[in-house]
Amino acid sequence: MSTDRLHLLVPAAGTGSRAGTAQPKQYQPLAGRALIVHTLHALQGIAGVSGIHVVVSPDDTQLATLLAAEPNLNRVRVHPVGGATRAASVSAGLQALRDAGAHERDWVLVHDAARCLVQPDWVQALIQACRSDPVGGLLAMPLPDTLKQANADERVQATLARGDKWLAQTPQMFRWDDLSRALRQAGPQVTDEASAIEALGLAPRLVRGNALNFKVTYPEDLRLAEWVLAARSSDPHGEPLT
Ligand code: C5P
Repeated sequence: MSTDRLHLLVPAAGTGSRAGTAQPKQYQPLAGRALIVHTLHALQGIAGVSGIHVVVSPDDTQLATLLAAEPNLNRVRVHPVGGATRAASVSAGLQALRDAGAHERDWVLVHDAARCLVQPDWVQALIQACRSDPVGGLLAMPLPDTLKQANADERVQATLARGDKWLAQTPQMFRWDDLSRALRQAGPQVTDEASAIEALGLAPRLVRGNALNFKVTYPEDLRLAEWVLAARSSDPHGEPLT
């Protein structure tokens, strides 16, 4: 078992244009709190993590204001170094982490701000599975639906076998130096960390997550997340909305 430290890195510099909200979706109110505050409270509950580092846009003052009212989120640090793409934001966050004292072989868990229903147990399972893995890995779910490939007219061109398909979630857990190199080589277009690692010829481990760890993306996701949060607060130990 490796003893290298673990850091959480939360890219939160997106504009959230697909959510159809007036402000970036990470600041959308959800059950009385901004969406990202739910995410950070869940991450704060993960044992063994050195710190929670959030990447926001250089002109973002909203998160600092929100955190001033959340004294319990005392492990969160904000880095206003976000870039034009998620990959650029994560790369800048990795550098900020290094400047803050992270070592080259430390583990970094990158988690989308917009996955506000994440639970500490799911992340612990990822850490457990990856800590002694030579590559690292990610939470993911086997694809439940039949997968269609579309043509340019949005008509079905092909039906793809789903048996070996998974939906990538976050956190995605890799070593600082591998991830920095992978993102540098992959460029700004990659939409997750694992695909950059794959481009190095490495095979990240898939660790089964939970369907509730979805990324709030479309307007209806906000309502669904609100229902889940309400169900959890009325029955915190209930099933199946853990
Ligand atoms: O846009 P998408 O939903 O893929 O964003 C995933 C995560 O990456 C979100 O938490 C978003 O705030 C973040 N992001 C970022 N910088 C960008 C674009 C997205 O930090 N330029």
